[in-house]
Amino acid sequence: MRPTFIEVSLENLRYNLELIRNHTNNRPLMAVVKSNAYGHGMLRVAKLYEKLGVNCLGVALLEEGIVLRESGITLPIVVFGGVLKKQIPAYLEWNLEFFVSSSGVLRETERICKSCGQQAIIHLKIDSGMGRVGTIAANSAGFIEEAVRAQHVTIKGVCSHLACADDPKDPMTIEQVDRFLTAISVFERLGAPMPLRHLANSAGVLYFPHSHLDLIRPGILLYGVYPESSCPHVLDVRPALQLKSQVSFHKSVPAGFSVSYGATWTSNNSVEISTIPLGYGDGYRRHLSNHGEVLIRGERRTIVGQVCMDQFMVNCKNDSLEAGVEVVLIGEQDNQRITVEEMSDWAKTIPYEILTNLNDRIPRIYTNE
Ligand SMILES: *Cc1c(COP(=O)(O)O)cnc(C)c1O
Repeated sequence: MRPTFIEVSLENLRYNLELIRNHTNNRPLMAVVKSNAYGHGMLRVAKLYEKLGVNCLGVALLEEGIVLRESGITLPIVVFGGVLKKQIPAYLEWNLEFFVSSSGVLRETERICKSCGQQAIIHLKIDSGMGRVGTIAANSAGFIEEAVRAQHVTIKGVCSHLACADDPKDPMTIEQVDRFLTAISVFERLGAPMPLRHLANSAGVLYFPHSHLDLIRPGILLYGVYPESSCPHVLDVRPALQLKSQVSFHKSVPAGFSVSYGATWTSNNSVEISTIPLGYGDGYRRHLSNHGEVLIRGERRTIVGQVCMDQFMVNCKNDSLEAGVEVVLIGEQDNQRITVEEMSDWAKTIPYEILTNLNDRIPRIYTNE
């Protein structure tokens, strides 16, 4: 195995789920495992959540849902991404629930289900302010009515998505919840049963109890990471993922020695330089060049020069090291810690992008079953 690997603590995943359950009064929960479970490995993580009794799994793509079914997951699976009409038979074949955002897709679903004698399980998507997909809340009465009348679809849920919930003070979230609740009051007016109402992502779970409704849909928080580095910490979730490697090469260099492509860094004095065997080809961001840090022997070491596709270099000052010494890129070493949130600031991005960039070239190992 490569000396570079991701270590996922199943115990921390379990702990975070428990914490979220306590925080939300044991609200029914959809565990979001899209994008390879935010880099943690979708199949292993989905199996754990199945064992831990979550109500359903959420993914973005039809293909992700199929992979879960092929591996034997029997939990309900909900696919968020925009549905193409030609994909509808595959959703039925694989027993996948999906978000329906428009009357067009609703009608096509009804037509296909009618002709093959099947029942689709759908969640009506209302746009309460995200502006991405869904029927706009103010004009959604006709859409909901049409869905209620459709004979071959089961409306299991009605949902929306929050745009600004990572800022607990942003009034947008309350407005979104209000618009959503107003839009779906149509069910009562029609005397139709109210489906499961859901719109809370991790930020909604953290800061807006009013948004929890009948089902919560946390993603990043399950993995022990906050949506942004600036988010107030109200739940002590534990990061589940660590990214580790080993020094692959070490050298002492004299003053005036340049390192990596473009020679963007040059030593002022003689100094010890270690090479770490991973790079942007693994999803380790090139933007960390010349300022990101790693932990070696319990100390922070700064990246020098450009991050390459498969390797990069760090400044070890006076410490002469050997190949094989442990390097922690995300996680803990000797009471020092580098978080995904901190790394996302270095890379001028958000924690989501750091996690989901970590790709399949990095093996995953699972601890604390
Ligand atoms: C990704 C996603 C979530 C989870 O978002 P987090 O911010 O990771 O909690 C919930 N719902 C939908 C529709 C999503 O696309």
